[in-house]
Amino acid sequence: RLVAAQTQSSQEDALERALRPRQLDEYVGQHKARGQLEIFIEAAKKRGEALDHVLLFGPPGLGKTTLAHIIARELGVNLRQTSGPVLERAGDLAALLTNLEPHDVLFIDEIHRLSPVVEEILYPALEDYQLDIMIGEGPAARSVKLDLPPFTLVGATTRAGMLTNPLRDRFGITARLEFYSAEELTRIVTRSAGLLQVQIADDGAHEIARRARGTPRIANRLLRRVRDFAEVRSDGRVSREIADAALSMLDVDHAGLDVMDRKLLSAIIEKFSGGPVGLDNVAAAIGESADTIEDVLEPYLIQQGLLQRTPRGRMATVLAYQHFGLSAPERLPG
Ligand code: ADP
Repeated sequence: RLVAAQTQSSQEDALERALRPRQLDEYVGQHKARGQLEIFIEAAKKRGEALDHVLLFGPPGLGKTTLAHIIARELGVNLRQTSGPVLERAGDLAALLTNLEPHDVLFIDEIHRLSPVVEEILYPALEDYQLDIMIGEGPAARSVKLDLPPFTLVGATTRAGMLTNPLRDRFGITARLEFYSAEELTRIVTRSAGLLQVQIADDGAHEIARRARGTPRIANRLLRRVRDFAEVRSDGRVSREIADAALSMLDVDHAGLDVMDRKLLSAIIEKFSGGPVGLDNVAAAIGESADTIEDVLEPYLIQQGLLQRTPRGRMATVLAYQHFGLSAPERLPG
């Protein structure tokens, strides 16, 4: 599945790392987030202080991890990386924190999945650079306070709404990443093609970009699949025709929707008469988890005006009906 950002082979991981921009000026798009960060990074460097804690949020594959690495690099410090579900016990986080050097970046992906005990440890660390831990058990247990070096936490989450309020309040800088335009993705595909030594025509790059769900990770992945197709079916050069043929074979339609997108929309249309339908019901109908629908599928469909989230549930729009060549019932949103 192209959109299954979580499950990918280590080879794909290595390729992704190779394509990752290293500096802010190579980071395409996201002008608002970039503009903010440029200023705050420079100010922190001028004052010789750690950068304020940064919360990055947005759907998978939009460049949160990339941006965290770039922040560390621009600050000239190390980055330590972990993720919410990995930090099971307070000691796991304590070990990471006590190994930081002054002004280092600690990157916690999926920060909305931190366990409550770990989150408790994080509060004083973020606020006062202090670690407050219990050592031992029972009557012999005692609390130990340790000073930490000033550091920057960069937290990433697909949904800012899932963060507890006290945690969210401790971030001085919050940046929301947006879906990329076709033009921005064309620049990303062209750059990646250069790094991968793929010959690509401008309209070939644009065709991939246009059908990549506004997401750099998907654009890069489609580029690699299209390259395979071009090597086997023609001379290796990616023209618009080759890109189109390859994407059709990969079941990415002309609007850039993949199999799962269409499955979700057509289930709402066919099984629930266009909605409104509750998230759990539609999840059961297509055999996908509610989380995947909310994190991965929905944001793009909503942005494209194909789906609406209403207080009574999800609704397909008139545009969604048109996508399948169907005429929509009168009562549906435009
Ligand atoms: P996230 O952490 O949000 O899931 P990543 O930072 O891992 O996303 O980005 C996925 C891939 O997309 C990266 O390996 C990188 O190659 C590419 N990418 C992301 N954002 C950009 C960008 N702004 N410019 C160029 N490439 C990008």
